[in-house]
Amino acid sequence: RQSIGMITTGTDALDALLGGGIETQAITEVFGEFGSGKTQFCHTMCVTTQKPKEEGGLGGGVMYIDTEGTFRPERVVTIAKANNMDPAKLLDGIIVARAYNSSHQVLILEEAGKTIQEENIKLIISDSTTGLFRSEYLGRGTLASRQQKLGRYIRLLARIAETYNCAVLATNQVSSSPDSFFGDPTRPVGGNVVGHASTYRIYFRKGGKNKRVAKIIDSPHHPASEAVFELGERGVQD
Ligand code: ATP
Ligand code: MG
Repeated sequence: RQSIGMITTGTDALDALLGGGIETQAITEVFGEFGSGKTQFCHTMCVTTQKPKEEGGLGGGVMYIDTEGTFRPERVVTIAKANNMDPAKLLDGIIVARAYNSSHQVLILEEAGKTIQEENIKLIISDSTTGLFRSEYLGRGTLASRQQKLGRYIRLLARIAETYNCAVLATNQVSSSPDSFFGDPTRPVGGNVVGHASTYRIYFRKGGKNKRVAKIIDSPHHPASEAVFELGERGVQD
């Protein structure tokens, strides 16, 4: 068994919350409402993953599964410059896979193994994990088939994390809208299927203009503490 790697978030506050950063061989799930900073966090991790080990990265590439068309190369460029890193080189290290529907989203993972090895991918980003599933499977009658397919996707993420010693960062939008299957707005869409496979679950919430608050939920070995961070030029920052 390979040893577990750790990727810095680029902020002292979130690193402290997570015990150093996000881990390989695990799924880290970030959930929160729109604008809470999930996608900004993903963009930041695209940069930190490529830092050398001495600087808290893994010197590896990133596979970004983009289900909402919200990946922004220019955002990576800004964050790279703020970190004194070469933007062109960083963009070369990110494989973006745009998923057009939930079946395509699953297919991308089914076929990802070769690319992960060839490109030395150390972080798989799934942003957002459940959006396409939600929009395609409406109504109570389709809940079972939705959960079955989503379950397959999550199991693939977990298997890839272990097989290739990758970190997985999976975002999930909180919904309190009427189509939600859960009354509690702090519970992620996708519910148990996502939650059980995740090793770490972090809840992001807004805390003022650029301020955001992260909280670890249900972790066996993290104290339930909170971290305050900002959204800005460096992506997520102290
Ligand atoms: P959704 O669930 O809708 O996908 P999200 O959690 O992914 O939402 P983000 O897109 O990560 O949310 O965050 C959007 C917020 O990030 C904006 O409201 C803005 O406040 C902030 N933001 C985006 N770019 C910058 C920037 N360059 N500088 C500072 N803040 C920024
Ligand atoms: Mg987003």
